[in-house]
Amino acid sequence: MYVILLGPPGAGKGTQAANISKTFALAHVASGELFREAMSSGSELGLQAKSFVDRGELVPDELTIKLVMSRLEKPDCEFGCLLDGFPRTTGQAEALDSGFAAENKKVDKVLFIKVSDEELLRRLSGRWICKSCQTPYHMVSSPPKEAGRCDKCGGELYQRSDDTPETARNRLGVYFRETAPLISYYHNQGKLVELNGDKSIDEVGVDLIGALR
Ligand code: ADP
Ligand code: ADP
Ligand code: ZN
Repeated sequence: MYVILLGPPGAGKGTQAANISKTFALAHVASGELFREAMSSGSELGLQAKSFVDRGELVPDELTIKLVMSRLEKPDCEFGCLLDGFPRTTGQAEALDSGFAAENKKVDKVLFIKVSDEELLRRLSGRWICKSCQTPYHMVSSPPKEAGRCDKCGGELYQRSDDTPETARNRLGVYFRETAPLISYYHNQGKLVELNGDKSIDEVGVDLIGALR
């Protein structure tokens, strides 16, 4: 089963992905994490992506498609995966469709997590991420048991440099311009399920699992 988590920055895609991928035994493929890994390793691709990520712009399709499609060729994605943060443009969605079609695969379902703008900015400004396992926390709505430490792996928590109010607002604009058109793209394919992401983490989790059963 190939599932896409679609939604604005801060919608809760990363938060919910852990639970979904465990429940359905799906590999979690998060494009933002792939870029952050590439940037911290100092690879050529990481260097090329950095200026876009830092400004809250999308990395150009050509680079992004290459990165994610090669990740999808790994054995853990052979029978399915959970895509988080990809596709984010119509060009990426079309590349995914045609790449899958060539291998007799398809996107099965697209879960669209809808959240109000004020709530998104609140979430992004209070987000802390584990340096080792990338689990997201929130100062207010989802704090770790011990300040600054990941509950799951004990890793150190940090705030992403692109979660500043200014960059976050820019990312929301980019989302509405470039990514929101995918809502009708997948609706027209009959694959879209829309969920209310303003609810609590647990409630959204129950709704998402229900939508996949
Ligand atoms: P968030 O979790 O806040 O939605 P991500 O971690 O998914 O953010 O992405 C962080 C940054 O990485 C984006 O702002 C963008 O610069 C880059 N990025 C991630 N996924 C994509 C994509 N599919 N296309 C282009 N750029 C991407
Ligand atoms: P995305 O991957 O879509 O950008 P994240 O999963 O990183 O979003 O969540 C953004 C922030 O909001 C994190 O700090 C997370 O702890 C918090 N968060 C996620 N879901 C909820 C929710 N339903 N209610 C309140 N806070 C949430
Ligand atoms: Zn961790």
